[in-house]
Amino acid sequence: MQLNQSTLNHSQDYKQYFRAGDIIFNESDAGKCAYIIKRGRVEISTEDKNGKIILAELSPGELFGEMAIIDDSPRWATARAMDDVVVIIITRDTFLNHLDNTESVVRMFLHTILAKFKSVHAHLLALGEQQHLWDLRSNSDLHNKTIDQTVRATVDALKFEQSLLKGIENEEFELYYQPVIDLRTDKVAGFEALIRWNHPRRGFISPLDFIPAAEQNGLIIPIGQWVFEQSCKALKEFNQIQELQFLSINVSGKQFIDAGLHEKFVQFSSELGLSPQKIKLEITESILMGNPDESRKLLNRFNDHGFLIAIDDFGTGYSSLSYLNSFPISTLKIDRSFVSTMLKDKGSMNIVHGIAGLAHSLDMDIVAEGPETEEELQTLKDIGCEYAQGYVISKPLPMKEAIEFIKKY
Ligand code: C2E
Ligand code: CA
Ligand code: CA
Repeated sequence: MQLNQSTLNHSQDYKQYFRAGDIIFNESDAGKCAYIIKRGRVEISTEDKNGKIILAELSPGELFGEMAIIDDSPRWATARAMDDVVVIIITRDTFLNHLDNTESVVRMFLHTILAKFKSVHAHLLALGEQQHLWDLRSNSDLHNKTIDQTVRATVDALKFEQSLLKGIENEEFELYYQPVIDLRTDKVAGFEALIRWNHPRRGFISPLDFIPAAEQNGLIIPIGQWVFEQSCKALKEFNQIQELQFLSINVSGKQFIDAGLHEKFVQFSSELGLSPQKIKLEITESILMGNPDESRKLLNRFNDHGFLIAIDDFGTGYSSLSYLNSFPISTLKIDRSFVSTMLKDKGSMNIVHGIAGLAHSLDMDIVAEGPETEEELQTLKDIGCEYAQGYVISKPLPMKEAIEFIKKY
């Protein structure tokens, strides 16, 4: 089998064969992966003005080329097969994936060890004494600084994880609801649920600041489930005042790929006697297009149960039109960056028109995000957008005020 980027990306342990004498990589080649020797021996060497210096002879079970995994740096030595050799290839992506998914304490240790190794390497390279890489004694100050920084960053991340956990326990999270208006009838069509964190010491923390961290440490799974359950309860309450067309709930990338997610959603909504046809799941364009074939399978599961699906922040990522056409999508949400500039910038205006045209030709509707003026709102109506959600209508509101909003609008 030929080694190429796609096989590398999809394989966790991919084997490659070399004959005795073959060069596995040359000094200064771009480093794309590390190797573990499965069979045979490998010679690691470098050159100086006096000729070849053999740095090591490695045997089965040993790892080499690992700097590529740490920082993608060029090879600093040459690796040659001494016998017929079989190696297992570990790509940087595979390694980083594993690191991301591992437990936080293990992650901290690995980050620290990697930083230590990296700084020793940089230090020795700066000295121009590559052979000293095999003598890790002369490494004090420089790497200690890097380690300190890494440890501090990791400890901060762990502390943040703890306070997120406490926040869940102490019910410091609250959902706000931003109205979405049907521009054809000028009635409230629904709401988008948006999470807020009222931290006892730090005060209000924006979701933009804690959702990415919660994605990193996996806490987005319980938080996302809480958001879903809370939103379903809110939808029931809203429906008692006015039957809404939908309630939108944001689903993060980590949540989306959780294989059991649709079952948890189906179970909870049916316990409440809610129809999934009123629950719109918002997933960003970049998550869906990251792995479109897998996304289609997951989306179909939700769609089979009747959930509505919206692509969030549309226009900010890259969408393949053929995939878009094959996804069971009901709504495109035009990103605020286009809406807020469309009256000043002809390019943005063309994009808003283009997205609306595209959505309609694919039988989807449009929610325009972030109109802040009456003029923007009117323009969105004129373009033929079905829905709008922005400060000109209302900021996100706590539950009580959202109910008042429905009554008064
Ligand atoms: P988003 O999903 O694109 O949500 C829309 C954001 O735009 C909200 O910010 C909303 O308050 C803001 N917005 C709406 N209209 C206007 C406007 O006219 N002007 C301006 N300047 N802003 C407007 P928010 O609530 O801070 O949320 C930020 C992001 O955090 C959301 O972007 C979403 O990606 C994420 N997020 C919020 N709640 C959740 C949640 O429950 N789960 C997940 N996974 N992500 C969430
Ligand atoms: Ca959203
Ligand atoms: Ca959005």
